[in-house]
Amino acid sequence: MENRNSNKNILIIDDEPPIRNLIAEFLKDNFACITADSAEEALKILRSSDINLVLTDINLGGMTGTEMIPHVHAASPDTVVMMISGEGSMEGAINAMRLGAFDYISKPLDLDHIEVAVERALEHHSLLVEKRKHETRLEELVKQRTEELIYLSYHDALTNLPNSILFEDRLSQAIAHANRFKQSLAMLYISIDRFDHVNDTLGHRLGSELMKKVADRLSRSVAEDLTIARFEGSEFALLIPQITGTEDIIAVANDIYSALEAPFVVDSKEIFLSFSVGISLYPDDATDGQKLLKNASAALAGAKEQGGNNYRFYRSGMNERALKRLILENSLRKAIEREEFEVHYQPKLNVKTDKIVGVEALVRWRNQDLGLVSPKDFIPLAEMTGLIIPLGEWVLRTACKQLRAWNNKGFSPGVMSVNLSARQFQRECLLEEIESIVAETGIDASKLELELTESYLMKDPQRSIATLHSLKKLGIKLSIDDFGTEYSSLSYLKRLPIDILKIDQSFVQDLTENPDDIELVQAITTLAHNLRLKVIAEGVENAEQLQFLKDIDCDEWQGYYFSRPVTSDVFESSFLRTAASTV
Ligand code: C2E
Ligand code: MG
Ligand code: MG
Repeated sequence: MENRNSNKNILIIDDEPPIRNLIAEFLKDNFACITADSAEEALKILRSSDINLVLTDINLGGMTGTEMIPHVHAASPDTVVMMISGEGSMEGAINAMRLGAFDYISKPLDLDHIEVAVERALEHHSLLVEKRKHETRLEELVKQRTEELIYLSYHDALTNLPNSILFEDRLSQAIAHANRFKQSLAMLYISIDRFDHVNDTLGHRLGSELMKKVADRLSRSVAEDLTIARFEGSEFALLIPQITGTEDIIAVANDIYSALEAPFVVDSKEIFLSFSVGISLYPDDATDGQKLLKNASAALAGAKEQGGNNYRFYRSGMNERALKRLILENSLRKAIEREEFEVHYQPKLNVKTDKIVGVEALVRWRNQDLGLVSPKDFIPLAEMTGLIIPLGEWVLRTACKQLRAWNNKGFSPGVMSVNLSARQFQRECLLEEIESIVAETGIDASKLELELTESYLMKDPQRSIATLHSLKKLGIKLSIDDFGTEYSSLSYLKRLPIDILKIDQSFVQDLTENPDDIELVQAITTLAHNLRLKVIAEGVENAEQLQFLKDIDCDEWQGYYFSRPVTSDVFESSFLRTAASTV
């Protein structure tokens, strides 16, 4: 039945085989013809093949040809239907045309007439297909344009950043989220100082170019999940969700300042810009978006009033903290060159023998203006700014040199332990650095211990385990500091090649009062011994605590009860030159 040369498909339906065969026979040379003897069978065929024209008798056994028309169009909208009407059923044919049939031919069949009618119907089909193509294209264009318009109404045309409408929308979503999960968020207004003046000098076109460059650096300086938007004029807004303290905000603000520090090149001119930032916090300063914006704006005005190039919190208390931190950070940057750091040493003792078996190196910072700053205040800051890398290396080298110096004088204070920070641990060149310090100072590697913390070991356990193994290969000892304060995973602990657990001082200090801590310290000690690890308790301040450690078979201890961390000179004269290594 099929004429392979033709690409037009015709479905012929008649319950009288002679008629449908006659038509098919007549058309087959030019078209692909399929036949069916009922409307039901025809619809089945329609659903599975691509039919251009349906030629159907009006009166069929079951569903009539007329009743079938809407079904044909539902299954295949562009398929043209043509009726074959019996003698004297003109009315039926006209009715069918009202229902969507395109034309009819009547019996007795005039073959020439059929050919002309079929050609016309197929032409109509081609027109329908064309029309649909246009309609679809038009729909696509409208959709695309609508999307463009939506994008434009939520973005700034110059910089492509979200605009204030989108920002405010994200702000209210973020507030709802923060409210549900009891979190805090910060809203920052960032403004280019004296941009009007810059714009006047450069002219409008170059001013816009500069603005684009600022927007570009700004959006690259903050994490991708933060919303940064352009507001009116020279103002930008930034939303920082899930903050845990002012430190988080200051860190972001500092990133922004460093990104904008370098000059901008416009029209081969170098332009230095300064920025002011106003900060408000949810829920501390306001609980709705509009008030947060207003408060950040007030803080920004405050920053500008002070001459610009600085940031201000809406609440004045925060400004003092921010300022303190800024001063601290600036001074910390200069502290290494100015040689303001010192290392102090605290002895570690064997619980049973009361002999000094080791010493922990603890860094100290002595600054002219700030006095003696506690590592608790500057180590996190040094971590954040990356200064911990040169500082940590300096401490390690100093401690190793000291050990070597004592050894040269014939003293053996035992194992020298040095704290290692997250950033140091994550460095690719950690191993080489340690290896070269050991070689350079000529100490026995087995007399060096590194104190690590779970918080960073757990971040990428696979990698940590590999690093620890390589450290062990150098022959050095490894301990876990502040044990018990993080989420310790016991199964994981078993896989770590470590030697010592240091029970955090918070547990030791509560020992004599808090029964929970007694059990915990006892459990940690038993567990560690099962894993063949040594246990050291830090922060021992009195005889009761020490007695308890003796009772539970703890191995070593360290604390003010024997000695605070002291300078190398004091350590040498008090503990190495005398035999005063007993309590
Ligand atoms: P840590 O490593 O757990 O050091 C023990 C801290 O407890 C030291 O505080 C020490 O002075 C203090 N301590 C010792 N015995 C007692 C005691 O009986 N009672 C009390 N209340 N405290 C005691 P410090 O020197 O202020 O150091 C604090 C933290 O700063 C250290 O905790 C360590 O995490 C970090 N740190 C210190 N020096 C360095 C360093 O060179 N590099 C790195 N990455 N971190 C360091
Ligand atoms: Mg330590
Ligand atoms: Mg500790």
